[in-house]
Amino acid sequence: MTCWILVFASQIQAQVTALVGGTLIDGYGSQPLRNSVIIIEGEKIKAVGRIGEIEIPTGAKIISTEGMTVLPGLWDMHVHLMINGHSDYAYWDKKYPPLFQSVIMPASAHQLLMAGVTSARDLGGPLKESIAVRDAINRGDIPGATMYVSGPFLQHRPYPGTEDFRWGIYGEKDAREKVQKLAKAGVDCIKLIDQDEMTKEEVFAIVDEAHKNKLKVVGHSHRPNEIRIGLKAGVDNFEHTGLSSAPGYPQDILDSIQERTAKMSLGPLFWTPTIEGLYNYEELRDNPERLDDPSWHLDLPDSVIKDIKHSIQHPESLSYFQLTPIRKPTLVNKFKQLQKAGVVMMIGTDSGIPMKFHSMSTWNELDVWVRVMGVDPLQAIKSATYWPAFFMGVDKKVGTISPGKDADIIAVRGDVIKYIDLLQSVDIVVKKGKQYK
Ligand SMILES: [Zn+2]
Repeated sequence: MTCWILVFASQIQAQVTALVGGTLIDGYGSQPLRNSVIIIEGEKIKAVGRIGEIEIPTGAKIISTEGMTVLPGLWDMHVHLMINGHSDYAYWDKKYPPLFQSVIMPASAHQLLMAGVTSARDLGGPLKESIAVRDAINRGDIPGATMYVSGPFLQHRPYPGTEDFRWGIYGEKDAREKVQKLAKAGVDCIKLIDQDEMTKEEVFAIVDEAHKNKLKVVGHSHRPNEIRIGLKAGVDNFEHTGLSSAPGYPQDILDSIQERTAKMSLGPLFWTPTIEGLYNYEELRDNPERLDDPSWHLDLPDSVIKDIKHSIQHPESLSYFQLTPIRKPTLVNKFKQLQKAGVVMMIGTDSGIPMKFHSMSTWNELDVWVRVMGVDPLQAIKSATYWPAFFMGVDKKVGTISPGKDADIIAVRGDVIKYIDLLQSVDIVVKKGKQYK
């Protein structure tokens, strides 16, 4: 009797859905599977195969993916939920913290999800709010990308007015205590910035304490010495191509990167180049129509939308981007230098910075990688699916379309391998088995 009740209960709980017909890219970088079938049971992928090879259970809800490319939900490894494209950080940081947890951060996470980004890593935000929003999404209370959060930046000294999300480090002991505090609060990684301004002992203590707590360290890399000290201390993942308008990485840094990437037992060295914002700035300045796209208004109050619009009405005059046209021509060289040095690159965008909306950042990064940097589209997709999940230590659970993993799946009408920019209009978004779009 008990047995029957259990069987019956599991049958009514687990809704079965079949995605049928589309060309499947699984996220591992191998050739696509034509006429695919994905069976989803509850939150998980039950089976993957081709029409005729896989039995579709009777009573399954069938969603046709004919004419579409089907792929794992995208990851964006560098977002900032607490900002929404406003151009004046000092103003934003003063005015909007009371709305971060209830409005701003949930809106950002929801916009990411609707853009096909089913997982994202937030690198630098207030601790309590970051954890609260992540957990509310995981509980299913609010819609949004599954978040992995660093909480506050760890740095030499916080800039005035940013103490809530930038923690200063005052000696080696303090470095360990702050990492422990973050670990205890449940962050998913540690974010370092301005580590070239810290003492060597402080940087080493942060990385060591993070690793002891099974947390990876993500380091900012805008300046040569941020990279140098970061490599010495064992930072796991660097962000940005950096180095301002300098033409490329100095030889000693390239040598150190290669020394590191040669050590297989340490695992890959990861790099999130975040190039699209820089690469696309001039185009956006000259044709700002994209800024009028209402996709970034989702869940934001009218007053906030108006405020953001007002701040970016003259893209040509934003001080943030004045040097960008001089930096842009250096991007190809820097990207290729990193590639040649053997790093594993991941898709990330710095989404949330001036004019970079969560609803439209991620696909642009993939587009620039493929169209400008010449990256194979299947490898670019792997850098937005498998590798991020691997980096976060959740590749057994998510990141590819494989039986047993979470059903985080998107589908797009057309051939994404031939036209990567089709990712700008995702037709179907499924996260943990639930269809959001
Ligand atoms: Zn950032």
